[in-house]
Amino acid sequence: MQFDLAGRFVLSADAKAAEAAIRAFFEEANATILKRKGAEPGTDEARVHDVRVEGSTIHVKVESKGRLRAHDALLRLRKAMGEKLGKAHRLGVRDVIIDAYEVTFELEKPVKHPVMVPFAKAVRVEDRTATLELANVDAEFLENNYIDRMINLVREKVNLQHYEGKGEYHRTMWSSPSKEPRWDRNPTEAMVERDWLKQGPTKGKWVFRPQIAAIIRAMERIAVEEVLKPAGFQEIMIPHHVPFDVWLKSGHMHGVPNEIYYVSEPRTRDVAEWQEFIDLVKITRKVPTDKLLANLSPPNAGICYAQCGNIYWSFQQRTIADASLPVQVFDRAAVSNRYESGGRHGMERVDEFHRIEPVYIGTREQLLDVREKLVARYKHVFNEILDLEWRMAWVTPFFLAQEGHDKEVVETDKLEVGTIDFEAWMPYRGSREESEWLEFQNLSIVGKKYTDAFNIKAQRADLWSGSSGIGLERWAVAFLAQKGIDPADWPAGFRKFLPELPKETQFL
Ligand code: ATP
Ligand code: MG
Repeated sequence: MQFDLAGRFVLSADAKAAEAAIRAFFEEANATILKRKGAEPGTDEARVHDVRVEGSTIHVKVESKGRLRAHDALLRLRKAMGEKLGKAHRLGVRDVIIDAYEVTFELEKPVKHPVMVPFAKAVRVEDRTATLELANVDAEFLENNYIDRMINLVREKVNLQHYEGKGEYHRTMWSSPSKEPRWDRNPTEAMVERDWLKQGPTKGKWVFRPQIAAIIRAMERIAVEEVLKPAGFQEIMIPHHVPFDVWLKSGHMHGVPNEIYYVSEPRTRDVAEWQEFIDLVKITRKVPTDKLLANLSPPNAGICYAQCGNIYWSFQQRTIADASLPVQVFDRAAVSNRYESGGRHGMERVDEFHRIEPVYIGTREQLLDVREKLVARYKHVFNEILDLEWRMAWVTPFFLAQEGHDKEVVETDKLEVGTIDFEAWMPYRGSREESEWLEFQNLSIVGKKYTDAFNIKAQRADLWSGSSGIGLERWAVAFLAQKGIDPADWPAGFRKFLPELPKETQFL
């Protein structure tokens, strides 16, 4: 890595009289504080050159290589110079300003097309080399580590160029025997016809009439009684507003900001402040949006995207006793909302869904054991109770798995850190060989990603964590797509959990 900087020190008074001392100071600095003892020549060192004294300003250029960054060198110089000039010449360093800064670094993969990142004046890229150009960089910017993050972002964008259009990574790990489906209709359409399901009043939401509500609740009972409790999970209930600081830590804030439903608090609860809004509603029978916005605070949270964020938050900064590991909890209280937009589809891809999310925190060995237990219970449910045709697929591409995860573990290819998707054949979409199967749930181990982000600790061992997303709408739709909506066709295992359906309402 190479850093080239043009900057200046602003002194408290004219520096002409001290010019010789200033030049001598930089000469000495080049040989001492800007060199790391024992470093190879040309590595981990900085050099000041092109010094120009102009009134109370000292213009300098600094170049550096390796781990000593030019901006760190500049801050080092500021401190040492302040001590030197203060004593001998009664000059103080008022400010240090970077007028131009270039950072040149090697990329893992060659660039395919230009990239840009915020705060950069330009990003010059050529094959495997990138140069960030920055102007007017202030101290706060340097101290907050933005430059390193900008470098990482350039690298990430270039790496992604190599995966564009490659589709999702997918490796089937296990498949059930094939099962003869009872029908090949789209269950959503069939249920809408019967009025078991009705489109909700807002985008991507359904009203579940008693029949499908009973089916979904039966799925929930199966998940809790046949999977979670036997696998050792305890129920918790968490709030379903998630503040931005949780998503900043979990990565959702940069990962899925385009899928979040945001939450705004009223700016005030004082009715007087709302009076005009209230009066306008009474007269116009419309919502005066501009008046509403004026009475709202900017969003500071969103509706639950996945429960794990708030669950991790609830353990943050805590040290968990060895005797309490692994922690195994699940939430089914928070409803998930996602802005699916053009992807919305039937009951299986909606903007509001009901999901149970077990979260597990423990040592690596404990989590591998939890996963094994969960998978065994899931197999029992999908094979013996729901009698599905389904499969498990490893879907973590290695380049993504490495992001923030335990690199070593992923690279050993042991399938430890990563995600398993559980998929079911949807006969209405076409043949089992050619059609797209539905992901009806998943199960992940994420290594230290969230325990690090939320600073969750154990007495001795490193903690890993993971979670599984049990989508109840997806369980139901996978089941109904294969077994139909006539209870007479349903497997006995499921009928034990739902012996009969509630009566239908007749409409005139
Ligand atoms: P997809 O690739 O289908 O969008 P995802 O990777 O976004 O799924 P996760 O965030 O991993 O899903 O959520 C886990 C589970 O939550 C899914 O397996 C599914 O059961 C459920 N789920 C996710 N999005 C929806 C949705 N829009 N409607 C219904 N269920 C959903
Ligand atoms: Mg999704």
